[in-house]
Amino acid sequence: MNSDILNKRINELVEHINTPEKRKKKENSNLKESIYTFTLDELKEWLQEQGEKPFRAAQIYDWLYNKRVKTFDEMTNLPKQLREKLNESFALSTLSTIVKQESKDGTIKFLFELQDNYSIETVLMRHDYGNSVCVTSQVGCRIGCTFCASTLGGLKRHLLAGEIVEQVVKVQQALDEAGERVSHVVVMGIGEPFDNFDALMKFLRVINHEKGLNIGARHITVSTSGIIPKIYQFADEKLQINFALSLHAPNQELRERLMPIARAYKLDQLMEAIRYYTEKTGRRVTFEYGLFGGVNDSIEHAEELANLIKGIKCHVNLIPVNYVPERNYVRTPRNQIFAFERALKKKGINVTIRREHGSDIDAACGQLRAKERVHETR
Ligand code: SAH
Repeated sequence: MNSDILNKRINELVEHINTPEKRKKKENSNLKESIYTFTLDELKEWLQEQGEKPFRAAQIYDWLYNKRVKTFDEMTNLPKQLREKLNESFALSTLSTIVKQESKDGTIKFLFELQDNYSIETVLMRHDYGNSVCVTSQVGCRIGCTFCASTLGGLKRHLLAGEIVEQVVKVQQALDEAGERVSHVVVMGIGEPFDNFDALMKFLRVINHEKGLNIGARHITVSTSGIIPKIYQFADEKLQINFALSLHAPNQELRERLMPIARAYKLDQLMEAIRYYTEKTGRRVTFEYGLFGGVNDSIEHAEELANLIKGIKCHVNLIPVNYVPERNYVRTPRNQIFAFERALKKKGINVTIRREHGSDIDAACGQLRAKERVHETR
């Protein structure tokens, strides 16, 4: 794809630019398509169009995802003229690291700058079961959850599939130095992945492909705020990928207060879509439930929640609220978090409390970007 078409595409993707005068616009003249946007089949097609052998696609994938080279020139088993053609046509790096912060617990937070100067964040979390990368799916977000930092300033644009894939590649390259591997991926960074569905699906295919990053479907989690039509579409894909719903409230009225999207997608219809998902895929769903002090964290709320999800193959993940200066929510006291957990357990619900990572480095969604790039989030 030449740079004019790509520039046009990026412009099409820019949906809301709230403060264009504040945004330093780069000369977009030499923008190139990211090579990471291509599925293996698409790469074969491109090669064929260029009069090249399709088997080169697997070789290129090997350089990209196994050897993880940083220049096309290092792809030494490709003919020189093909390397040159690749170099002219595509970018091997569309994200540049502007901040890399490491926390005491090993969490690493990256702030990347995109080709058009917007910034996104990506987080590496260390667990006893492996290394998990939390990726961003959009620049900003238009869902407007009242507790979330990612939505401050609205949506700037969708990410291209390659920009999401490259976040994982960049983190893997950082881990290569220590001989470690990214084993898990969660789509829980900035943005609503189901609002950027096609790019999300392409991203999932590339990182899951055995010749790509080869991250097992069961090691990948996608989280949504609840865009109902996309939940059906996702269920019909019948992937083995883990699926999480940000529920946060046990009834319609409270959910509307916390998440304006609940006005468009009603809770009863949402639960119906979730049931469809669990039946169609045979997989359980994770309900994320943020505990907001004095808002949704009483024992009555826990019991109402248990009734709402009764009979659904599921797991509840309780998230003590992350403090966001621009938002007014306060933390639920520890005792009450445990009481809430016990109340759910008593009703036979599977439940865990989310452990915090990197709280000393603003690792919660959107916080680093909100701090470093004030102009983008206002
Ligand atoms: N847009 C998707 C992906 C984001 S995942 C979604 O809504 O699911 C990030 C998770 O953190 C979501 O469950 C989100 O609701 C939650 N979250 C956002 N801000 C938070 C805060 N201040 N405290 C606790 N959880 C928060």
